[in-house]
This record gives sequence, C-alpha cells and structure tokens, in this order.
Amino acid sequence: MEDQPSSPLERLYQLQEVLNEVRTKTERRSKTPDHLVHVEAAYNDLVHRRQELGGRVQSAEARKKELASEVADLAEQLAKYQKQLALVKTNREYGALLNEIDEVKKKIRAHEDETLALEETLGKAQAEASQGESGFPAEEQGYLDQMKEWRAEQEVLGGEIAAASAKAEALRARIDKKLLLLFDRIAKTRQGLAVARVEMVGNQTAACSACHVRLRPQLLSDLRMSREAVHCESCKRILYWDPKAEV
Ligand SMILES: [Zn+2]
Repeated sequence: MEDQPSSPLERLYQLQEVLNEVRTKTERRSKTPDHLVHVEAAYNDLVHRRQELGGRVQSAEARKKELASEVADLAEQLAKYQKQLALVKTNREYGALLNEIDEVKKKIRAHEDETLALEETLGKAQAEASQGESGFPAEEQGYLDQMKEWRAEQEVLGGEIAAASAKAEALRARIDKKLLLLFDRIAKTRQGLAVARVEMVGNQTAACSACHVRLRPQLLSDLRMSREAVHCESCKRILYWDPKAEV
C-alpha cells in the first residue's frame, strides 16, 4: 500500500470508502444495462424453451419405454391365460377365465392407443427440437456478440472488486478490533455509512456531514484532541475529523 494512513480513524474512513466501492461495483456488475435487458430476456427465453422441449421429449421417451414393458408383461399374462383355457374343467371357470382374458386385452389396447398418441407428440416435439437445435448456435453466437462488451466490463469490475476487497482486508488487519466491531455495528443500520466526516459550516462551526446537525464546540475540541472514537450526538455515527481539511 503506497499511502499509510496514520490515525485509526483515517484508516476506518478509508475502509468505509473501499467497502462502498465494493458494494457499488458489485451492484453495477449484477445489473444488466438497459439496452441489453431485452437481448438477455430473449436469450433466456430461448434457453428455457429449449430445455422445456428437451424435457418433454425425454419424458415422452421414458413413458414409451414404460408402456412397452407393461405391454410385454400383459402379453405374457395373456398367453398364460390362454394356455389355462385348455385345462379348465367347468363352464364357470371357463367363463371367468374369458373375462380375465378380455380385461388383459382391453389393457393392451389402451396401452397401444397411448403409445400411438405419444409417438405423435414425440414426433412433433422432436421435429421442433431439431429445428430449434439447427438455429440455436447462430442465435447463441448473436447473443454472445451483443453481450461481449458488457461481459468485458463485468470482468473489469470483477477485478476491481477483488482488488478493493483485498484492500479492505488489509485495512481491517490494521484497525483495532473494538473499533471494527463498532464500525460494523453502525454500518449495518446506516447503509454502510458508519463514519461521517466533520465539515466546517462557518467560522469555528462544524457539522456532521451525514446528518448535518451542528456539533457543540466542546465536541469539536474533543474530536481534535482525542484519538478515541467520538460520535455524532444526533445520528451516532463515528465522526472523522480530517486535519487536512482544516483551514
Ligand atoms: Zn450525524
């Protein structure tokens, strides 16, 4: 680090600036620019439809397999009943067996009907999917081309965020733990603004730059003398007096 801020409050103020940079850049990176919002939405929609279609084809194929295996079982059952038919002794048994056979045949027909309907749906979905697949690479490339500049910008932001985060960690390591706890606690309830600069609003009159409430003269002199944290009496933020700002 080139600059070595001397006072703990100066480091704390710098930490706040760096954390603020991390926050705003992270927000910016996650927000697609207005002119690309529709491009992104159209692409996401395309990807979604493609997945949905793929899912439909897959589940239809799975159901078809299931039906075929059930039909095979039913056919086996039917053959068994038909063999038994030759062995029954009474008319009552014979009639009952015929009823069973009819039931199995009915089930087989229903399975076959479902398979036919499924094949039709599957054929349509597969045709639609293959048509979509042939156009997809070009559409995807178009999307990537349009997003290229923004992706590069996001990458730059990512690098800056990483650098700022590392700087924040380095600053934290050089700040007293108690002061850090205080800072984090206030920052949480004050949208990240825990340290407020003191600004001169007149000759010998100072105010908190966050809430603009004027400081009592005694507080101002405490602030100039003390190396401890002094809080704004109104918003309770930690006041930071920048000696360089004094005229
Ligand atoms: Zn204040």
